[in-house]
Amino acid sequence: ASAARLVLSPAVLPKTFLELPTRFGLGPARDKYAHLDDQILRQVQGQERLVLSNIARPRILDLDANLPQPASLLAVALRRENRYYGAMWIAYDQPHVFTESDVRFVTTLAGQAALAAANAHLFLNVEVARRQLEAILNSTPDPVLVIDPQNRLILANPAAARVAGVNIARGGGQTIEKLIQQKALLELLSASGEKQSAEIVFDGGRTYLATASSVVAEGRPVGRVCILRDVTHFKELDSLKSEFVATVSHDLRSPLTLMRGYATMLEMVGELNDQQQGYVRKIVSGVENMSRLVNNLLDLGRIEIGVGLQLDKVTAQDIIERVAGALQLQASQKNVSLSVELQRDLPAFIEADQALLHQGVYNLVENAIKYTPNGGQVTVRVQTAADNIVFEVRDNGIGIAPSDLPHMFEKFYRGKQRDARAQHGSGLGLAIVRSIAERHGGKVWVESELGKGSAFFLQTPISQPRT
Ligand code: ADP
Repeated sequence: ASAARLVLSPAVLPKTFLELPTRFGLGPARDKYAHLDDQILRQVQGQERLVLSNIARPRILDLDANLPQPASLLAVALRRENRYYGAMWIAYDQPHVFTESDVRFVTTLAGQAALAAANAHLFLNVEVARRQLEAILNSTPDPVLVIDPQNRLILANPAAARVAGVNIARGGGQTIEKLIQQKALLELLSASGEKQSAEIVFDGGRTYLATASSVVAEGRPVGRVCILRDVTHFKELDSLKSEFVATVSHDLRSPLTLMRGYATMLEMVGELNDQQQGYVRKIVSGVENMSRLVNNLLDLGRIEIGVGLQLDKVTAQDIIERVAGALQLQASQKNVSLSVELQRDLPAFIEADQALLHQGVYNLVENAIKYTPNGGQVTVRVQTAADNIVFEVRDNGIGIAPSDLPHMFEKFYRGKQRDARAQHGSGLGLAIVRSIAERHGGKVWVESELGKGSAFFLQTPISQPRT
């Protein structure tokens, strides 16, 4: 034969952006007759093989007189497990009579080619998916790290190499302890269980929010994946906002004191009638509400920027008694019973900032009284849990709607229910409690059912780490 060609059907190629060759030729006339490829591909799909000792008769192919044409041609379909992969064909410049053994020989070759095409097809599908995933990972600006259950790094994209200095090319197969310096990132990666997040500051001062979770394949854990997001910009905005709020509230304090002073002095300089006295009371109460808000904002600002904790040896009992003492009047005015339960074997002391911890518990108990209708009950319980002490403030008040629950400790967040809105408030009390807990290395959480009541928890370590 002067030419042998193999043509793959475009339908069997995976959809991809990769350039894949589909036509192959051999022999001196391999390119000369290439224009017949598409016709042959269509023809043999339907009829398995084409044996044309004289290409012009019968007139199966549509022959263009302006193009070179072979004299004889034999084409066989590449087929495997009912899938049509393409065609293999040979051409002669001179007329050629195809014998049965010619046909058998080419059919055998085509069978082998079909097997090779089927294998390549399977492999390509997998390979294309892999390359696409790789291209996506390589171009994501967010660092991605994957480790196996033995804590060995199995994937790190270029962004991870830039940010965390881990390079799979250099470190593939090594344990992360050898490759990663940031302690927080190491802890997050090697922690077990569900999704966890942490803010991590890298060299150069950029802050990333890292989220790690287990990779589960067919019900079995096969490692952990960690994605990092640059949140530096949001951190900067947040601190600008806090700074702004702190400056404004600070500047509001003196005029408020002045207003309160003059409003109370009004009745000293002359007799006021009842209506005037009523107005003065309204002014004073308005100014007091505003002062409370300003003080809350200032406190929050101070706690957030981390003015050093004044650590002391504090007893839980002392804190609770003081809080209860300060709020007893408020509770009895609403006919709310306030009771205290202390676990018997509490540690003698906890290490904490007395004033801050007092304020945290105070805010929780004040809320419990505030959001519990007349005749309700508020219980404060203190117990230990591992190396922590937990203050629990439970009420049988209005409760919190499930949609509000995740936002409770955000700044300025107030419950959406009508009976919660009926109370005055700024939405800062719980944000302060959270900041206080976090400053001590502790945490806060809430359990609640709408209409039944709520339980707020403030947990703080019994002792603080030595610095
Ligand atoms: P404020 O009480 O000034 O609105 P907080 O931050 O103290 O601000 O509380 C935020 C919101 O949480 C409140 O507006 C209220 O909806 C809800 N909340 C707080 N404590 C309780 C509670 N014990 N029971 C029901 N809702 C509560």
